[in-house]
Amino acid sequence: MNDSASVPITSSALIIGAGPAGYTAAIYAARAGLAPVLVRGLQPGGQLTITTDVENYPGFADIIQGPWLMEQMAAQAEKMGTRLIDDVITAVDFAATPFAAHGDSGARYLADAVIIATGAQARWLGLPAEKKLAGAGVSACATCDGFFFRGKNVVVVGGGNTAVEEALYLTHHAARVTLIHRRDQLRAERILQERLFAHPKIRILWNSVVEDILGAGQPATVAGVRLRDTLTGAVSDLPTDGVFVAIGHTPNTAIFKGQIAMDAEGYIITTPGSTRTSRAGVFAAGDVQDKLFRQAVTAAGTGCMAALEAEKFLASRLATHDQAAA
Ligand code: NDP
Repeated sequence: MNDSASVPITSSALIIGAGPAGYTAAIYAARAGLAPVLVRGLQPGGQLTITTDVENYPGFADIIQGPWLMEQMAAQAEKMGTRLIDDVITAVDFAATPFAAHGDSGARYLADAVIIATGAQARWLGLPAEKKLAGAGVSACATCDGFFFRGKNVVVVGGGNTAVEEALYLTHHAARVTLIHRRDQLRAERILQERLFAHPKIRILWNSVVEDILGAGQPATVAGVRLRDTLTGAVSDLPTDGVFVAIGHTPNTAIFKGQIAMDAEGYIITTPGSTRTSRAGVFAAGDVQDKLFRQAVTAAGTGCMAALEAEKFLASRLATHDQAAA
């Protein structure tokens, strides 16, 4: 056994995940004197590190870069007194307190309160061009990137609520929006479908799958998509300036299964208006518990809530402990 495995890293508050939710929780927890430990995981900075321009995070009149914003949040959290650790939590034990977590490094973490901020990942089609053209016309977030397609033609892939909402949102910017769906029926709510069908800027391509995303220019940007008709097998190219993939998200919650309550899709269930989970002392913030808004600013907001609630939880435990000792 190495040293890191034998000597646990203890703290009042352990924060798992380093996106806007985790860093904001860290800033507030550190300012509250909780000396939090934040374990950053595989992708420090989270989804914002794969975004480029950010212009909807309040406080910046000029466009900022996603990775830069996350570096600033990390620096702020550290300056306030957070211990940032580059490790990946691979298992947790919330059955008893102190709560325990195990890192890929071999380190063991013990904490009186835990804030889960491990986020979610957009699902992708799995095409090599998605990676090549990410930030060059390929996106998984219309609210983040729609503005850059003013007056242009875009496609949205998917048939759920997200795809339909993204298509409707994009009509505020784009000249024409084409929704591409692999079946002949949407799974989105009826009211959203009605809005979609009625919109003059939107058309729908049914029974179609995107086989490739085509780039052009130097550096390459999206120029079109190659489609296959699932009924006839016919392949055709559709020119477009942007591709929004909206085929769902996967919350990063595998390691918490069986420890706290989750919904059927694996999102952590929190008490409405709170970040409390089914386990007292364990809080969840950001996209890991939010499938509706998924914005950096809402993640930061719930991160703040989680730290304040953790602080309150720890204070009440201390008070109970003092009473018992008196
Ligand atoms: P969903 O899982 O509901 O929908 C995913 C869509 O993508 C489906 O239409 C699916 O097709 C399609 N899809 C999946 N994989 C592929 C693929 N490889 N190629 C092509 N198409 C694919 O995800 P959403 O993100 O839309 O929604 C997630 C959850 O969040 C849902 O519970 C939803 O109701 C909720 N939500 C609610 C909102 C609201 O209430 N306003 C807004 C946004 C989300 P198929 O239908 O054939 O399976």
